[in-house]
Amino acid sequence: MDKKLYEYAQLLVLKGVNIQKGQTLVISSPVECAYFARLCMDVAYEAGCREVVMSWRDDYVTRKRYLLADDAVFDEVPEHIPAFNNGYAKSGAAFLSIAASDPENLKGVDPSRIKRNQRAVGKALAEYRELTSSNAVQWCIGAVPIPAWAKKVFPDLPEDEAMSALWEKIFTAVRVHGDMRAITRWQEHIERTSRRKQRLNDYRFKYLKYKNSIGTDLTVELPEGHFFEGVSEHSKSGIVFSPNIPTEELFTVPHRLGVNGTVVSAMPLVYNGTIIEDFKFTFKDGKIIDVSAKRGEEVLRDAIAADEGASYLGEVALVPYDSPIKQAGVLFYNTLYDENASCHFAFGSAYPCIEGADRLSPEELLSRGVNRSITHVDFMIGTSDMSIVGVTHDGKEVPVFVDGLFAF
Ligand code: ZN
Ligand code: ZN
Repeated sequence: MDKKLYEYAQLLVLKGVNIQKGQTLVISSPVECAYFARLCMDVAYEAGCREVVMSWRDDYVTRKRYLLADDAVFDEVPEHIPAFNNGYAKSGAAFLSIAASDPENLKGVDPSRIKRNQRAVGKALAEYRELTSSNAVQWCIGAVPIPAWAKKVFPDLPEDEAMSALWEKIFTAVRVHGDMRAITRWQEHIERTSRRKQRLNDYRFKYLKYKNSIGTDLTVELPEGHFFEGVSEHSKSGIVFSPNIPTEELFTVPHRLGVNGTVVSAMPLVYNGTIIEDFKFTFKDGKIIDVSAKRGEEVLRDAIAADEGASYLGEVALVPYDSPIKQAGVLFYNTLYDENASCHFAFGSAYPCIEGADRLSPEELLSRGVNRSITHVDFMIGTSDMSIVGVTHDGKEVPVFVDGLFAF
């Protein structure tokens, strides 16, 4: 176990963040995962980093604050929080976030408090988010089990067994096998997936046509100048890093007005603690015009009504059905993992995967088809018989997915 933990810490710090000699690393971690955050710190100092700065979070404190704090605090953010994040990002530090949350931590909390808090924090940290999402600095998110999460995934096991079981699933998913070769395997995975990304970007498809036996029959238009992203990125100073570990997806932006047909979910969606199952959307000219779900329909209807953009697609992601996350064979109740189990879409805001996007105003991006919303919710649609055909600008049809797997 110790060996695997160290192999995993190395993977996150050396491949995920790719910390450089003389660079500062900010690690944000829940207090329960201090042992693992400290291991990541050790790896970073061994790699010659300038300083490791810890930023601790606590689910318990977060929950109590939502339940008991004065109502006014959810509209304000103390000055030191943006100063910390924006300051380190501007000075070129790298960021490692250890994600480990109780999926039901906010159950029963007044949703308006959450919404207002998200809005206030979003505004205060706009500069930090802009610097990380534009890859001005390297950043990475990885996950570590905590008991509340492990019990959610393995409700029938005693807590310590559930923890070991979740650790094993995580190790499988991130290719940590205890032989200290995770970094090599990760490198091979990146190279294989990058070749596919190149093929997709060479084709510059006008449409992707999805079909499977559970009822998905959907055409998605891709905007002019789009490109596929994923697996690894380059920071502004040219450092290669992987923002998510694990990551199996190649994703791009759909044209917000170019989605037509029906898509059926292939896995449950966990949304703010509610499970939504067996749902489908029908789209016309980009907008969701019909929704149904066997379970959680009301919550789903609310989610796509969050604002105008919430009922349009904001992400198209390709994930082969044999991904190690799918092979782990469990629902993780964690987007970082579950979204890497199968092909997915997201409704809500889009990453601007469009050439020259940084020179376009928000209005220009919208008119090019890049959706805008306060929300972004991934939902899984990939099945073992999923077929995806790409249609080029001159009408040629190219198989992209056959029987749930990449055709190239
Ligand atoms: Zn995705
Ligand atoms: Zn997404």
